Amino acid sequence: MAESQLAPERRTLRRFDGDFAWDGVETLVYKEEGEAPFSKITRQLLHSDSGLDCELRFFDIEAGGHSTLERHQHVHAVMILHGEGECLVGDEVYQISPHDLVTVPAMEWHQFKANAGAGLGFLCMVNRERDRPQLPSESELVQLRKYAQVASFLDS
Ligand code: MN
Repeated sequence: MAESQLAPERRTLRRFDGDFAWDGVETLVYKEEGEAPFSKITRQLLHSDSGLDCELRFFDIEAGGHSTLERHQHVHAVMILHGEGECLVGDEVYQISPHDLVTVPAMEWHQFKANAGAGLGFLCMVNRERDRPQLPSESELVQLRKYAQVASFLDS
């Protein structure tokens, strides 16, 4: 396990620096290069403690960037902290802004995109032990594209 993947040391208070970084929290690559498609996104592991079965992460997407289109058994609880964007959950597309809450149910396709002129930053709570994300096959993409707003989201 790379050092950058280690859970942060236990510390009672980590000060916010005013720009979506926290004292002693490292900014990590979102995923390993080549593992899945994504663009202009970083990850910070804010909480990971053996006493909790979840982790709290912060994802920061630059203007025009996006997370991976994926699905998995584990669920996500997301709160938008800054910026503007859109997310796909299942076959619906939602405009998202600060303090909106998004729940991603098990096995629903999902993807987060920052608007062209703004970044998008969000907290994401997730199980500590989780299954590996699945990527859509060509036929699953064809299915998703049957919904006009999904097709337009995927092309944006
Ligand atoms: Mn996911």
